[in-house]
Amino acid sequence: MVASQQDTDFGKESYRLEPVDQAPYYGAIVGGRLLATLDGLRVNTKMQVLNEQGKVIEGLYAAGNCSGGFFWGAYSDHVPGLTASHALTFGRLAGQYAVE
Ligand SMILES: Cc1cc2nc3c(=O)[nH]c(=O)nc-3n(C[C@H](O)[C@H](O)[C@H](O)COP(=O)(O)OP(=O)(O)OC[C@H]3O[C@@H](n4cnc5c(N)ncnc54)[C@H](O)[C@@H]3O)c2cc1C
Repeated sequence: MVASQQDTDFGKESYRLEPVDQAPYYGAIVGGRLLATLDGLRVNTKMQVLNEQGKVIEGLYAAGNCSGGFFWGAYSDHVPGLTASHALTFGRLAGQYAVE
């Protein structure tokens, strides 16, 4: 269907048909229960959780809906995938900083 640019199963528009033909492939279950956290745990740029005095709590990292502040001013609904990609991107960074 991608090669012929015609989705005869569901009628998806041709510009949405993208080939998935380059290994390696990874699978993940995506099933969030919350849309976004508007406030909550404060983190610094290394995803380290801060205490009430703004000091780092050693060994504690947070990302995604465990972390706060990212959406405190506005929830931008004209950037598709922003909350999911926020969780994925900053989750990856938190993991990298935790390993360091
Ligand atoms: C209806 C709906 C529609 C959405 N639509 C979009 C969209 O179109 N685009 C977009 O970008 N985002 C969307 N989101 C938001 C997006 O799904 C979340 O922002 C994202 O999943 C957050 O990821 P996370 O890893 O921080 O949290 P989650 O995905 O919620 O993961 C937290 C995980 O922790 C587990 N957990 C909780 N407590 C414990 C515990 N005590 N011990 C062990 N595990 C625990 C939970 O089971 C869960 O698996 C939507 C959310 C909802 C609810």
